This record gives sequence, C-alpha cells and structure tokens, in this order.
Amino acid sequence: MSRLEGQVALITGAASGIGFATALRFAREGATVVGLDLAESAGGEWKQVEDAAPAARFHVADVRDADAQNAVVASTLEECGAVDILVTAAGIANGGPVHLITPEDWQHVQDVNLKGTFLSAKAVLPTMLERKRGNIVTIASVEGIEGAEGGSTYNASKGGVILLTKNMAMDYGRMGIRVNCVCPGFIDTPLFRSVVGNDAFPAEVRERIKTQHKLGRFGKPEEIAGAALFLASDDASFVTGVALPVDGGFTAGHGVGVVEMMGLGG
Ligand code: NAP
Repeated sequence: MSRLEGQVALITGAASGIGFATALRFAREGATVVGLDLAESAGGEWKQVEDAAPAARFHVADVRDADAQNAVVASTLEECGAVDILVTAAGIANGGPVHLITPEDWQHVQDVNLKGTFLSAKAVLPTMLERKRGNIVTIASVEGIEGAEGGSTYNASKGGVILLTKNMAMDYGRMGIRVNCVCPGFIDTPLFRSVVGNDAFPAEVRERIKTQHKLGRFGKPEEIAGAALFLASDDASFVTGVALPVDGGFTAGHGVGVVEMMGLGG
C-alpha cells in the first residue's frame, strides 16, 4: 500500500544524498513531491522522482532566504493545494576546533543548518495551522546528540535542530501537527564523500568512525529515507518530539575492542 497517497511533501536539500533519497521514496509511496535545493536540480536523477510522481516539482532556492522559501510554499499551495509534509534535509558540513573557526564560518553553518530549518518550518506552519494538520521531519545528526572531536560548529547547529524540533512538537501538537527529527549516523552521500569519504581523509580514522557504527558499516541515504517515511506516515501517528537515531548503533555506547576479544568482531 502507498503510505503517503494523496499527500504533498516539500523536501529541502532534495537534489542530493538524503534529501534526494527521501524525495524518491516519498514519490514511490504516492506523495506529490516538491523538491527545493540550491543546486539547479538533481540532474538526470530528479527524473526518477518525476517518473514515480508525475506531478513532482523542483525549485531552486536557498534555505537561508525566507522570501524564497515562502515563494516555494505559495506556489506549492497554488499548484498542489496543500503542504502536508515538510522534510528539512538541506545542510552543510564544517568543523574544526573553536580557536580556528572564523566567526564567518560559524555563522554560515548556523545559517544553513539551523536558521534554514527554522525558516523552512516557519514557511509551512501558517498553512498547517490553518488546516490543523501537518507533519514536519527535520534532519539533525548523531553529532547533535553527542560531541565529536573537531565538530563544534556543525554539532552546535545540529543540537539546535534537535531542540527546535522538540519545542515545535510541544507548541503545535494540539494543533494536529507532529514534529520529529531523524539523527543519522555517517551516511554515504556526496557530503560524506567530500569529508570523511574523501581520499585525503586519513583511512585509519575513517575506519575507526566506521567501527563506531556497531553494525560495522556506514549507512545508506535510503535508510534515512525509510526512517523519515515512518515518521511522516500514519504509522507514527502517536510519535512527536522524538530525535530518532538512525545510526547503526553509533550512539548505543562506546566500542573499545571487547567485542573483538569475544570473537564477535564479524
Ligand atoms: P548532500 O548530499 O550534500 O545534500 C545536501 C543538499 O542540500 C545538497 O544538494 C546541497 O546543495 C543542499 N544545500 C546546501 N545548502 C543549501 C542551502 N543554503 N539552501 C538549499 N539547499 C542547500 O548532504 P547529505 O549527506 O544528504 O545531508 C543531508 C542532511 O543530512 C544535512 O543536513 C546533513 O547535515 C545531514 N546529515 C548527513 C550525514 C551524512 O553522513 N551524510 C550524517 C548526519 C546528518 P549543494 O550541494 O549545492 O551544497
């Protein structure tokens, strides 16, 4: 059965990685998908979304730009009649220890990851409140739940996304709006490949990060899309205010090598 039949889903960061996988999955589950991204489009890939959902649309917009986001929501309401679901997957990586981060770099990460999420929610909330119906899924990170060496600015932005999510769940629950957050572990996307997956990144550190995922591998964007689908669907009708780790066990505890001693290292 199509779990999102007849629903309109606005997805930011839809040209790449987790956002694109979510757009494709939602389209295959019957949603009319409206993608938003900085990038022109996902190139040939967006065609897959249109094949699954012929009414799908794609807008070039910057999540830091309130007017641009409001314009996308206005045209979605005009052309599709509603915005039932928002997924905020637009985001950037950046980091370093505080003494080396410039205030400009700090601000840029907060503007895209945290303020961008705030502006996306702000753009859809008036129509959701009017209809007393809506569903928001934000994408934070395991690095919003716990610290990571060198992750200060990114982690602060993602920690902010988690608390923004919980506060929105509290504010809008009685108005029929659920708000939840997915906290991915390290997922093999273009963003991941530009940092941890890059050849310039030390292979032994990459291996250690991989091992912290207790399933012994990095995740796939489709696995985050599946969690976003659960939270956006009626299967999660009594779930709100949750920050759901989808992380192969990354946040389950600290691996120190005892598993290997016990002969359970795979
Ligand atoms: P991705 O492949 O780089 O996709 C993110 C998309 O967002 C890109 O198309 C990017 O465009 C777009 N974007 C960036 N800034 C934007 C802006 N200002 N306005 C509109 N769109 C913008 O990254 P991903 O790995 O799928 O990440 C998606 C989300 O998951 C991010 O919030 C990320 O922090 C989070 N996450 C990822 C991982 C991971 O390991 N991959 C783990 C935890 C959380 P450009 O390519 O032009 O920048």
